[in-house]
Amino acid sequence: MSSLIISGLRAAVDGNEILKGVDLEIGAGEVHAVMGPNGAGKSTLSHVLMGRPGYEVLGGSVTLDGVELLDLPTWQRARAGLFLAMQYPTEVPGVALSDVLDASAATDFGSGDELDRRLLAEADRIGFDHQFLDRPLNVDMSGGEKKRNETLQLAVMAPRFAVLDELDSGLDVDAMHQVSQRVEAATEETGLGILVITHYSRLLDELKPDRVHILVRGRFVASGGPELAQELEETGYGAYQDDEPAPPAATATDPFADPLA
Ligand code: ADP
Ligand code: MG
Repeated sequence: MSSLIISGLRAAVDGNEILKGVDLEIGAGEVHAVMGPNGAGKSTLSHVLMGRPGYEVLGGSVTLDGVELLDLPTWQRARAGLFLAMQYPTEVPGVALSDVLDASAATDFGSGDELDRRLLAEADRIGFDHQFLDRPLNVDMSGGEKKRNETLQLAVMAPRFAVLDELDSGLDVDAMHQVSQRVEAATEETGLGILVITHYSRLLDELKPDRVHILVRGRFVASGGPELAQELEETGYGAYQDDEPAPPAATATDPFADPLA
């Protein structure tokens, strides 16, 4: 069974340590949610996993079925079975999605009819208009169209593990449903393991997490079942945001207590 194992991962941006020791183990078909306040390091985690330039790994390891990913360039991480749906998908003028998938080292379809068939079938599955397949990648697309585009790439590439960074941002209710259904189906059809980053439990109502982890200032401060996401929706992150342990409550002295008791 496939596994993605993150241990003791520490990373810096511009000399500032953002990830301060992240441990997480994801098995095939599992959905792990990472939630946390703005600036906690969630996107940094996704970028470090995929090997985006500009992030300095200070320590730890990330293995996919025993292969150390941190030693590999991004394309080889993709080849090894890791996929990232970006929070802010990049616009690439002049390059269509079909060109990207044609050239991708991560698909086994190569170019030609089989890839085209697969692309059209997957587009239909998530209600993605075929006209977008030949348009320049993400250029002039709405937020929701970009996220469907990311999902389409995920579905065609069929990775073993996917990191979904705020896949729900910019999606209307129908798109959210289609996209999360498609991803959920992949966990059953191909055993896709998922690390889903989100602020809202709404996505997690559709894409049911096995585990929920709360990231605050570069560390997981709590982990639990799906009920943790629900709890956060109600209470916010306030209870988890204190770095310092709360000072012990002052001992109350009762002036009327019996001194001999
Ligand atoms: P989240 O996704 O949890 O909202 P991020 O991972 O985007 O948080 O950011 C975590 C922290 O790292 C923030 O303080 C942010 O300003 C900083 N950071 C992230 N990327 C960069 C970057 N490329 N350059 C400088 N600082 C960055
Ligand atoms: Mg982010």
